[in-house]
Amino acid sequence: MSCLFCRIAAGEEPAHRVLEDERFVAFLDVRPVFPGHVLLVPRDHHEAVWDLPADLLGPLGERVQRLSVAVRDAMEGHGAFNAVNNIVSQSVPHLHVHVVPRRRKDGLRGFFWPRTTYASEEEAAAVAERIRSALPPA
Ligand code: AMP
Repeated sequence: MSCLFCRIAAGEEPAHRVLEDERFVAFLDVRPVFPGHVLLVPRDHHEAVWDLPADLLGPLGERVQRLSVAVRDAMEGHGAFNAVNNIVSQSVPHLHVHVVPRRRKDGLRGFFWPRTTYASEEEAAAVAERIRSALPPA
């Protein structure tokens, strides 16, 4: 099994597991943004969010929600940050949701997202229309 997170899910690679059931495993990120940073992965190998079967989307969201509560409360945080890198900036090609405890004034203001602006309302409207047109059917 060549995928690191497949091996962790199968118990073939060590990890500090915090949640596991038939379809998902969550474990501590080995290089946390803050202590308590957790990764949630499906047991089956799916690379990016668009590869996840529809019947796993709801269960994924339910576990993200529960883990976010647990990470927030266990680490005495004020909130939590959820993130998924898909292909770009994705260092492990097995879908994983980051659940990171956040505290006010924890130093991550701005995080890794430098912001830009739209040149005009027209440009913003055109971008919104492009995205609406690209939406796959519900
Ligand atoms: P990303 O860069 O979004 O693909 O996130 C991958 C994450 O996996 C990084 O935050 C790494 O620190 C984490 N990671 C890599 N190897 C391991 C491992 N063996 N156990 C736990 N987390 C890992």
